[in-house]
Amino acid sequence: MGLSRIRPRSARDASPPSTKGRAAPVPNGETASEEPPRLQAVPVLPEPSPDEQPAAATRVMAKVIAFANQKGGVAKTTTTLNLGVALRELGHRVLLVDLDPQGNLTMSQGMNPDAIERSMFDVLVHRVPISDVIQRVEVDVAVSSIDLAGAELALSALIGRERALDKALVEVRDQYDFVLLDTPPSLGLLTINAFVAADGVIVPVQCEYLSLRGLVQLENTLAMVRENLNPRVRVEGIVPTMYDGRTLHAREAIEILEEHFGDLVYETRIRKTVRYAEAPVKGSSVLRYEPSGPAAQAYRDLAKEVLDGAKAREHA
Ligand code: ADP
Ligand code: MG
Repeated sequence: MGLSRIRPRSARDASPPSTKGRAAPVPNGETASEEPPRLQAVPVLPEPSPDEQPAAATRVMAKVIAFANQKGGVAKTTTTLNLGVALRELGHRVLLVDLDPQGNLTMSQGMNPDAIERSMFDVLVHRVPISDVIQRVEVDVAVSSIDLAGAELALSALIGRERALDKALVEVRDQYDFVLLDTPPSLGLLTINAFVAADGVIVPVQCEYLSLRGLVQLENTLAMVRENLNPRVRVEGIVPTMYDGRTLHAREAIEILEEHFGDLVYETRIRKTVRYAEAPVKGSSVLRYEPSGPAAQAYRDLAKEVLDGAKAREHA
């Protein structure tokens, strides 16, 4: 059923080009008793010079990618941030959009979602321009706040509720090469908004607790969106995360993924390391936290694979 709609990368490449109480939650979802992370000045990478922007010169509109898996704790947020910073290092203009009311992405760049006045809630529900909620940190981030928890209910009463994000992105789509959408752990209206706005979906999958049933549900939701709201959206790739190659279990999980999804599974394995949990506590991507470490390199490798996939389609 749903799985059969997921074509291997080789077939896909031939398709036409697609025109978070007062005790602050910490990024690992636990509750910390310490002070919440505060807004801090983060060094901003210099703007890429025109020669460093081949993609900017040739592509007019941003490619929008949603990071989704209705299971929590599979590294959606970690992947959105670190892949975004890796693409930025390569000279691309990148916007990250935090669509999770828990605000982990916002927090992982050193900002406190509880202290944010205007967020993606106002963009989606009150049609505030998205440029009003973009913070320039390591990359540009359209921030979340706890208000976003009420967005699904508020949106459900509005006409065009599934297209609120797509409409909001029109303002900035020509200012970025990549817009990466971090979604909450559900297939609710916020995630549907991401699917409607997206050209592709990247699914992070934890190698330890592989849930193929969950992936089928995700693909069924995506198929509904494709049929009714956004014909161009499809799974772009599957990222195996928290991989521990020493365990047979993790190797088997990869085998199962490849058996079902073929070339859609990226070759890059995001290995299990505490670096990914340490970096957000410092309000930093792992690429800035430990630039020459293997954790940073993994996301640089993934960025190359994502770019290769995008190029293959452009030239198809
Ligand atoms: P999600 O957004 O899917 O809920 P997160 O990106 O917040 O998942 O990751 C869940 C937790 O796992 C976080 O504490 C994060 O720091 C940690 N984490 C993410 N990737 C890895 C990894 N490769 N190895 C070890 N821990 C990781
Ligand atoms: Mg998350």
